[in-house]
Amino acid sequence: MWPVAPIMPLPTMARGYCCFNDQAVAANFLLNKGLAQRILVLDLDVHQGNGTAHIFQQDPRVFTFSMHGARNYPIRKEVSDLDIGLPDGMEDRPYLDLLREHLPRLFDIHEPDFVFFQSGVDILGTDRLGRLKITRSGCKTRDHMVFSACRAHGVPVVASMGGGYSHRLADIVEAHANTFRVAQEVFF
Ligand SMILES: [Zn+2]
Repeated sequence: MWPVAPIMPLPTMARGYCCFNDQAVAANFLLNKGLAQRILVLDLDVHQGNGTAHIFQQDPRVFTFSMHGARNYPIRKEVSDLDIGLPDGMEDRPYLDLLREHLPRLFDIHEPDFVFFQSGVDILGTDRLGRLKITRSGCKTRDHMVFSACRAHGVPVVASMGGGYSHRLADIVEAHANTFRVAQEVFF
């Protein structure tokens, strides 16, 4: 029989496939060193950014935004500063419309001086766990919208690769590679 894990606060636990919350560690580093004052976390992985939401729930310096499958893992969601729960089967047009609607407001309201972008590609229709129907082209447009917004506001951005569980490895690799292609296109 397996020992029952004690119930601990979320930041002390690994969840999903994640041992460490790299964005939260990096965000706290920037804040503690005085290198950033106002951070925006754009979590566009199909799973809610629950760890980040929880860690920064009481910290007004970090605004957490998560667009994720409403019926996907984790079943018990944390509370981000702004959560957009998406229905199963969502396609490019409504997905990108939602992002286009919210993205400018996040910059206007929070006025970040640093952005963390969780660029998971488990939003793809080919993904085994994602439940959405975003095309690779739609995923690339998502990345373009994020990087363009950062560029327009003159805010540095770090993109962290997130989930990707498509059957064909090439689908995952291509979508992740697009994130870097688009970053190069927008910034260099
Ligand atoms: Zn994910």
